[in-house]
Amino acid sequence: MHGNAAPGSNQSLISLLILEDEPRYLESTRLLLAQYVNSIETALTNKQALALLGKQSFDLALLDLHLPDGSGYEIMAYIRAHHPDCRIIVASADSEIESAIQSLRLGAYDYLRKPYEPEELIKTVRNVVRKLQLEHDNARMVYQLEQSEQWHRLLVNTSPDIIYTLDKDGRFTYLNDSVEGALGYMPGELIGRDYTTVIPADQREAALYRFNERRTGERATRNLELQLRRKEDLLSSLTERTSDQLVVVELSSMGMYRPTSLGMGEFLGSYGVARDISARKQAEATIVFQAYHDLLTGLPNRALFKDRLGQAMVHAKRHGQTMATLFLDMDHFKVVNDTLGHLVGDGLLQALAQRLRGCLREGDTLSRIGGDEFMLLLPHIRSRDNASYIAQKIIASLKQPFNIEDHELYASMSIGIALYPDDGDNIETLIKHADIAMYHAKDQGRNDYKFFTQDLHKTFTGRLAVENEMRHALEKKEFEVFYQPQVAVQSQRIRGMEALIRWNHPTRGMVSPNDFIPIAEESGLITPISEWVLGAAFRQAKLWRESGLPPITVAVNLSARQIEHPQFVEKFLQCMHKHMPDGHGIEIEITETTLMRDMDGAISKLRKLAETGVEISIDDFGTGYSSLSYLKKLPINTIKIDRSFINDLTGHTNNGSTIVAGIAAMAKGLKLKVVAEGVETREQLEYLQTLECDTYQGFYFSRAVNVSTATEILSRKTELTDIL
Ligand code: C2E
Ligand code: MG
Ligand code: MG
Repeated sequence: MHGNAAPGSNQSLISLLILEDEPRYLESTRLLLAQYVNSIETALTNKQALALLGKQSFDLALLDLHLPDGSGYEIMAYIRAHHPDCRIIVASADSEIESAIQSLRLGAYDYLRKPYEPEELIKTVRNVVRKLQLEHDNARMVYQLEQSEQWHRLLVNTSPDIIYTLDKDGRFTYLNDSVEGALGYMPGELIGRDYTTVIPADQREAALYRFNERRTGERATRNLELQLRRKEDLLSSLTERTSDQLVVVELSSMGMYRPTSLGMGEFLGSYGVARDISARKQAEATIVFQAYHDLLTGLPNRALFKDRLGQAMVHAKRHGQTMATLFLDMDHFKVVNDTLGHLVGDGLLQALAQRLRGCLREGDTLSRIGGDEFMLLLPHIRSRDNASYIAQKIIASLKQPFNIEDHELYASMSIGIALYPDDGDNIETLIKHADIAMYHAKDQGRNDYKFFTQDLHKTFTGRLAVENEMRHALEKKEFEVFYQPQVAVQSQRIRGMEALIRWNHPTRGMVSPNDFIPIAEESGLITPISEWVLGAAFRQAKLWRESGLPPITVAVNLSARQIEHPQFVEKFLQCMHKHMPDGHGIEIEITETTLMRDMDGAISKLRKLAETGVEISIDDFGTGYSSLSYLKKLPINTIKIDRSFINDLTGHTNNGSTIVAGIAAMAKGLKLKVVAEGVETREQLEYLQTLECDTYQGFYFSRAVNVSTATEILSRKTELTDIL
């Protein structure tokens, strides 16, 4: 059997070695035994026998004691030393009993006295073979048992689930290795302990009949969700975060009974499998969280906000309470994003959310509903004052700058407030009205809060109407370009005309560009409208030039959206060249904020225009990010000091005058022309005359007027200057 059959196989192959120096005797023995064993090797001498034993092992050896080259005992000794499992039968002609005793002492299995009857030999050999076969079967069974136990242990221990058994008193009798990963206990630490060791106090009741299940079959516990407690480690006991110590499992368990011939016998305990589903639960929770929260700030999103608003509304209705919805929009956030990048923008939003949170009470819901827009729900307020108090608190909290990635940033917000039930009794209306109020706060100069009023509603619905009507205004030829003279401060000579669009609305009358240009920008209508304005202005510039009047500059206003258009330069020049050979006598006005949106893009585009002779002036200077450093990079000719500073010039001692004086001096240093906007009084003009300010524009000289009046003024003034 050795070497021939693996312990796992169920065939016993028996090999036999016969050592006999008498060849005929050897041959007859071989023939006699051939049918009882599977293979036979024969040796006539000790030497031959040793050679065979050196090559292979045998299950059985039949040895003669007297060999020509030695004694059979030597072979026995060799076999004992090298093949301890080989059974030996000694066949000897020695008549002394000593020989037999010696053989048996040396480990022979049996002893045959020669000459023996064939039946005797066969009986002895069969006896050994049967014994060997029994042993072999036994070994195979032990092996198979071991294998299957190892296999089951492997299955059980490599199972990701906790597998356990409890005795009838609820003490652990077995736990697989998975318990360590899931609960932090080594199996040995729990064996003998009560199952409640791993059950958190508030789960004891749920666990009672389930963990220690007595039922079997259909009625036993299946996939019950339960929390188990992890072994307390140093970390969790320090942080006291109990949620870290809990593991959510899905438990299946059943009772174990001693089987009897009559069916189920004595209750032995229970058996269970607990699957750790914490990761799945965590993932589910994350998905739910993500569906209802803004990932940047961690605040509730629009969906959750509406949900909370709805709930709060039901509650407020039932208890006759008032609540407030605040719409908050950050001022000039786009500028931060566009000039400093999204990373800084994101950082600012996060810091802002953090600061807003600090202004709230428990129960208030702050939510980010998009970009730089937030909504706040104050579910229970006693009066309007409560809402304004919170709004004021928010505005005040923003006085401190934010430090984002080495930038010191100031943020302000415009806030609109709508109250339930006065301003709306459903979610959509309340949000819309808070939004309208917020727009109003923006219009009124930002960094402030406004309550919703019904009047606002009218102007807001007006906004939507404006957009619709504007679409048709071009074809209906309702637009018109007006011109406002730009005049030399000292000589009063007209240097230029600024083209300012007007909308001659059939029912509203003359609509100011302030009321429709922003809407045109938002809706994209700015593109066809501004093409029309440019065409009209260039045509007029050509007419004036050809009419023999002294040369003037015609200035046109450009909005951010126009300049950002990829074909802006081509379109502008195409339109210009229809009327003008080059850009001389044409000026464009752009605001600082427009420039800052895409500085690099603006630089290259404006350079191309400047090459054709077009002059560039910065409009509303002083209201945006007034950094003069960028002026050096741009091909700028003129800056227009914003009307608000001129407005402040009511005496020589005030703030406005120093700012105007400062800007004028600085501009001179940079060799730029300066235009003062919005000069309304003689006093303002006289002050400007003391400064290095070349040109002014304003109602004092003339409002923006239609083409015929503008032409009239031009010719009149020409005459005037001619006389002077
Ligand atoms: P802006 O370019 O700063 O134009 C000057 C504005 O100040 C004009 O208002 C003008 O009528 C007004 N103004 C001039 N002098 C005085 C004064 O002494 N006192 C006061 N209170 N106001 C004065 P307007 O025409 O209503 O235009 C408003 C803004 O609309 C313009 O500001 C400009 O930014 C924009 N805009 C006008 N036409 C166009 C256009 O064709 N395209 C674009 N993109 N924007 C335009
Ligand atoms: Mg302008
Ligand atoms: Mg201006």
